[in-house]
Amino acid sequence: MKRSQQSNQPLISTLTTIIFAVPKIAARVNAIAVVSILTLAIPVQALQVGVKPPNPQLGDTLSVMIQPDSNDGSTPTVTVKQKNYQAFPIGNGQWRTLLPTTPLDSPGPMQIQVVSGGEKQNLTVQVRDRSFPTQSIWLPPGKDSEGTDQEFDRVDAFKALVTPQKFWNGKFLRPNEGEITTIYGVRRYYNGVFAKDYYHRGVDYAGAYGSPILAAAAGRVALVGRESQGFLIHGNVIGIDHGQGVETIYLHLSRIDVKEGDFVKAGQVIGALGGTGAATGPHLHWGLYVYGVSVDPVPWRLEGFE
Ligand SMILES: [Zn+2]
Repeated sequence: MKRSQQSNQPLISTLTTIIFAVPKIAARVNAIAVVSILTLAIPVQALQVGVKPPNPQLGDTLSVMIQPDSNDGSTPTVTVKQKNYQAFPIGNGQWRTLLPTTPLDSPGPMQIQVVSGGEKQNLTVQVRDRSFPTQSIWLPPGKDSEGTDQEFDRVDAFKALVTPQKFWNGKFLRPNEGEITTIYGVRRYYNGVFAKDYYHRGVDYAGAYGSPILAAAAGRVALVGRESQGFLIHGNVIGIDHGQGVETIYLHLSRIDVKEGDFVKAGQVIGALGGTGAATGPHLHWGLYVYGVSVDPVPWRLEGFE
């Protein structure tokens, strides 16, 4: 159906037709804020874009749902602050892109541009500010440990993965039974000076030494690093690629049960909690990355992203 042919119909009737024509989208209307450019001066655009959650805060992952006008085979692109994010098909002719936000972003309006076929939509999403706890760290001069280039190169390459397949299904699982000691996003003062680029890029679980570490979701093991190979900050570390730009990383392990290339199931034991690398005591540092950016894992555990 060519939407432009309906442009002389009354607006409400046209919108109703669109909603009836795509019941799968209509079913999502309750859950997501559907944004459509509707003005009387121009024909109704059939490119429909919705963003979830409707009222995000810093650290949240935004899910951008795209229903193109026609299936011309082209991949929609999503652009935020001149950075392009790939969209992936999720069935029924729809596409989805995940966008990260962090404590380092400015709260307020976030401009999202979606281009599909010849159509373009600009959305503005209000991202709420969020108050993150702060810690004060006092280091004797020269005491701050530095990692090796090798470990950061390997970890950076892992975080940059964008695999077209989607391996995860449903909500992410808690990776360890230990108590949470440091939440995502905590900011720091080092020797009294605010570290403007630092935020806690994950969640810390103070589980028992040797307690099982579970894969939070299904995926492919794409990083295994060992303290003995120069992973001085991360310690023994596992990274899982869940596909479509989503990765989880597990630090400071005492034992690693998987190897690179293995496919793991959600809840599978992949190693054991430890205190390797730059850890002051036994704990798991668990990070979740979207397009290489550390986001709050909590919404992935509580609400999930399909
Ligand atoms: Zn941590």
